[in-house]
Amino acid sequence: MAGIDSSRWGSAMNNAREYAFVAAICAVALIVSCGATNPEGRAPARLSRDDAAAVRGALERRASAVSSGDKAQFISLLAKDDPEFVLEQARWFDYRMSATIADFKLVAEAIVPRADSACAVTIVMSYRIGDPGEARTVRYIERYEKRDGVWLDADLDLALKESDHFVLRYQAEAGEGSVKRILENAESAWYAVKGSYGEAPSGKTNLKAFSDRELLRQNSKITIGRLFSGWAEPGESIKMWVRPDPEYEYTSVLAHELVHKMTLAQASNQCSWFAEGLANYYGSFAVFGGDYLYLKYHEPADYDRSMVWLGSLDSQAIDDDKQWAVYGGMSGTVIRFIVERYGKETPLALLQTLSSYPQEREGYVYATHDAALRDQLAGAVKSVLGIGMDRLDADWRAWIRSQVAG
Ligand SMILES: [Zn+2]
Repeated sequence: MAGIDSSRWGSAMNNAREYAFVAAICAVALIVSCGATNPEGRAPARLSRDDAAAVRGALERRASAVSSGDKAQFISLLAKDDPEFVLEQARWFDYRMSATIADFKLVAEAIVPRADSACAVTIVMSYRIGDPGEARTVRYIERYEKRDGVWLDADLDLALKESDHFVLRYQAEAGEGSVKRILENAESAWYAVKGSYGEAPSGKTNLKAFSDRELLRQNSKITIGRLFSGWAEPGESIKMWVRPDPEYEYTSVLAHELVHKMTLAQASNQCSWFAEGLANYYGSFAVFGGDYLYLKYHEPADYDRSMVWLGSLDSQAIDDDKQWAVYGGMSGTVIRFIVERYGKETPLALLQTLSSYPQEREGYVYATHDAALRDQLAGAVKSVLGIGMDRLDADWRAWIRSQVAG
């Protein structure tokens, strides 16, 4: 049984087929003595005591901004040359602001110079989220770069490899076999989406691959209660989990995320179920060769529910695999119904109409945004099809009841 990738324009994908903190070391003396030979064989890069202290200071200011909710200070500490990274961080902060967190700490375990004006910082991030507060701890390596005398956060320290349509950045822990497979699967996904959706990104799409699944969550949306397998938001890189199995097949997941990326670039104001439906129908299901009814994973009776039910669920709060599969499977089949009943151009016409509404740039939070986005979808349905959501829903219920159980 093929898996569905879950979530919002994040795709917190769950797969339906599967189910020390280390004490802060890092005395300044240790840092300064820590040299790294550069690729040209020149003398090892060095970091002065002042620079090491400045990197620590930047980290302290970042932690302070996160704790106090000072977004301007948080953004001021970032290198600005990669707009996708800056947007990812801005949304990360929005999500953090939608949560209650306490005891937020960033501890530099080691600072390794990479060049005269760059270093790799091993960071332990820890905090408590919610009430009474679930403890979270994650370790990662961040690149810091010195610009005009100021040390700035320049994103995770990742290795890089490219293919025809993708730039893959990945944690060094990902094996060569997985890296090769991800790029091969990404190319297959690109062609699958071009076939189903009619287009695929013309430029290279950035992928970030995380061997550490917790880091994937901590780097994208800390408020999600479950670990997920992929993430895509408008204007950002596609993020994914690298499975321990080097033979794992990523094509459906990557096709799903590519569709999120393209459709959200066209209209970011998609309510959650509609976004997920598009990504499944044009992405995952295109790779599988059909939806979950076709695959006999679900029966039509499983989807004999209204679109109001779909809209009532905060997809990122779903923590039950079966419910998640019904939510995503039904969303994708509703898009199939729209195609079969009203014509294959209809979902794209709905997107086109949605794009005429104001486009949201801040991080999506169901409780804050989804009701208004559902209203906009209703407006687009009225504009494109000339009917209300109640009529669309009634037509859907009649259609799904007419489908023969497999
Ligand atoms: Zn998704």
